[in-house]
Amino acid sequence: MSSQLITNIAQLVAVPPGPVSGDTFSHPPIIESAALLIENGTIAWLGKQQDAPTLTDAAETIDAKGGTVVPGLIDCHTHVVHAGSRENEFVQRIQGASYIEILEAGGGIKNSVRMLREATEDDLVAQARPRIERMMQWGVTTLEAKSGYGLSHEDELKTLRAIKRLNDDLSIEIVGTYLGAHTIPPEFDGKPDAYLDRMLDRDFLQTIVDEGLAEFADVFCERGAFNLDQARRFLETCKDAGLTPKIHSEQITRTGATKMAAQLGAISADHLEFVNDEDIAALQQSGTIPVVLPGCSFFLGSPPAPARRLIDAGLPVALATDLNPGSCTVEPLPLIMSMACTMLKMTPLEALVACTANAAAALGRADKIGAIAVGHRADVLILDMPNVNQWAYRVGVNGVARTIKN
Ligand SMILES: [Zn+2]
Repeated sequence: MSSQLITNIAQLVAVPPGPVSGDTFSHPPIIESAALLIENGTIAWLGKQQDAPTLTDAAETIDAKGGTVVPGLIDCHTHVVHAGSRENEFVQRIQGASYIEILEAGGGIKNSVRMLREATEDDLVAQARPRIERMMQWGVTTLEAKSGYGLSHEDELKTLRAIKRLNDDLSIEIVGTYLGAHTIPPEFDGKPDAYLDRMLDRDFLQTIVDEGLAEFADVFCERGAFNLDQARRFLETCKDAGLTPKIHSEQITRTGATKMAAQLGAISADHLEFVNDEDIAALQQSGTIPVVLPGCSFFLGSPPAPARRLIDAGLPVALATDLNPGSCTVEPLPLIMSMACTMLKMTPLEALVACTANAAAALGRADKIGAIAVGHRADVLILDMPNVNQWAYRVGVNGVARTIKN
């Protein structure tokens, strides 16, 4: 048996297993002068240091040096596997073009599609690996990665296989999502339903499931992408094939997709900039996790989602980077936590819960990760800062002194 005891912890944030909402969301339990025991990669005990169990000779002691211990961060919404970059559009937007204008003029996602189709699986792995390694340095121990820039059988499989290889190669868990309905590729221009027929082919979906390439299916329901009926058809068919629904909803306009996805049993509804009371009520009646992506609002200079309203409605809000080449290139999840504080009026502790327990719930893993709880996987961070408030407050400073994965 291997065991490690982390001692000298100024603040242990004992985030409970997700989904976390209500008073616990705002005030997760904090143990001061704490210790944490890990046995065989699992959290075995936590409490006051003076009460720590006596260890055998085989145990290793890790000195937290008066720092803070929190669960490893979980980035539950990324497009980290992509080809090339789109800084030209970044400049076009500064000069007045809108995201939707660029998309409708054939740019945006379609530029990324062109570049991804030219790349090999090896190219995709080589480009994504350093991005993921940087994200890990900022405390991310699990991340989700979507396809969606291939938009053909061959190119979607190429992307999903690159994601699987990165999961196998790196000491982080990477969960794949099939985003076959991200936008309509040029060869299906004006024929969205024919495109969906193609991408919902039974044998193709079966290949994704059989090779273990994705657990989730995702659709971009928006003007210039897929309408509500098309989004519903995509998610229902994928669900039948064994892929759990997720959705990009209410990002640029209000489409009603959040309500549709909640009724369909989606595990998460992501973006939510334009949700209304009806959508919030639908989320309350479902187990669908609302995922808010303030990095996009920061990057595009657009209004953020009403996270405070969602939290005050008792919903277990999660946060993620949405790392992608068009609408948010922010890699560090702690920077998103700082944005959640300043732009969404979430407290640092709320932002932490949103990036751990609730993000785990958005990936169907709340019983294993995202919490400091006995029996949970020992994915923990030691911060060289005395509390979580300081971590969010020191914007863009990397407070992660050590990451323990499993
Ligand atoms: Zn996204």
